[in-house]
Amino acid sequence: NRRLVLAERPKGEPTASTLRLETAEIPAPKKGQMLLRTEFLSLDPYMRGRMSDAPSYAAPVEIGGVMVGGTVAQVVQSERDGFAKGDWVVSFNGWQDYALSDGTGVMPLGRNPQNPSWALGVLGMPGFTAWAGLTKIGQPKAGETLVVAAATGPVGATVGQIGKILGCHVVGVAGGPEKCAYAVETLGFDACIDHKADDFAQQLVAATPKGIDVYFENVGGKVFDAVIGQLNPGARVPVCGLISQYNATSLPAGPDRMNWLMGQLLRKRITMRGFIIFDDFAHLYPDFAKDMQGWIAAGKMHYREEIIEGLEQAPEAFIGLLRGENFGKRVIYVGPL
Ligand code: NDP
Repeated sequence: NRRLVLAERPKGEPTASTLRLETAEIPAPKKGQMLLRTEFLSLDPYMRGRMSDAPSYAAPVEIGGVMVGGTVAQVVQSERDGFAKGDWVVSFNGWQDYALSDGTGVMPLGRNPQNPSWALGVLGMPGFTAWAGLTKIGQPKAGETLVVAAATGPVGATVGQIGKILGCHVVGVAGGPEKCAYAVETLGFDACIDHKADDFAQQLVAATPKGIDVYFENVGGKVFDAVIGQLNPGARVPVCGLISQYNATSLPAGPDRMNWLMGQLLRKRITMRGFIIFDDFAHLYPDFAKDMQGWIAAGKMHYREEIIEGLEQAPEAFIGLLRGENFGKRVIYVGPL
């Protein structure tokens, strides 16, 4: 059983010495448990938070502990009612080949799922995050302008496509011309701005002539800086993620714009609301699954994956995800072993 454990807490960007590959015995399931073999491991930005012991909504991974992570797995041996050898499931095996489970939080995928890895993306946690954050907090109306960054990732791409289905004018923000072209040509966004361009802020203003009604916040930093002044009275800002800050070790240098921001919120009666997907919206999962399955069946949802083979590639692939090197949902293909 190969597994990646947290060797040290990173300062700034994770490095090659943050995680350590170990080998251990394959555990045997006791009564009420099952042994799961990891097929696909999801790489997600939140994992950077689990490497840190700064206060957060979830406990950090212990030093020496197996790195946590969502997985698609197959049941190898079952001593638990309701699960049989060969069943596919969504589980939380973490960054390892095998894991024991008592079934808590495990979601069955049947015997022969069509695209099992999609359960880690558009049909799973990131898709659900997009759906809930946008429709429940963003509450977009037809004709309104919606802006979303990390626009080609699993959350952003889904946010923008749902926005189009709901009749919004959708402007994406992404890193580089290739990702921007994909957002417009394949995902159907009305425009997409490259945040690496020197005149990014001016381009964003030009692309949102009627202001911004919903800003789905995935990145923070200079993208949010450029958005604030464009927000319309009554705008809604679901605060989903701040990936530009996840490796930061200190606050950025001034000027201190906090009071200017507070003035904008007050005068324009803007609603900003943070959310943690399963803590806030778990009860709505069936509604999401129904909508998303319908959109996929109707050909209304494009989904791009980047599958990287080999558990040992996961640390490098994760460091790259935080740098924006991924183009689509990054998944590690771990099995079959
Ligand atoms: P993505 O696959 O979109 O990955 C990250 C992307 O962020 C990169 O590809 C890059 O895209 C962009 N990015 C990285 N650094 C910067 C930067 N400095 N400035 C601007 N963009 C940057 O990730 P997900 O779709 O999985 O997640 C998107 C966000 O949603 C994350 O912030 C994540 O933490 C959050 N999230 C929150 C949840 C919640 O419950 N609140 C649940 C799930 C996700 P590009 O090259 O286009 O800039």
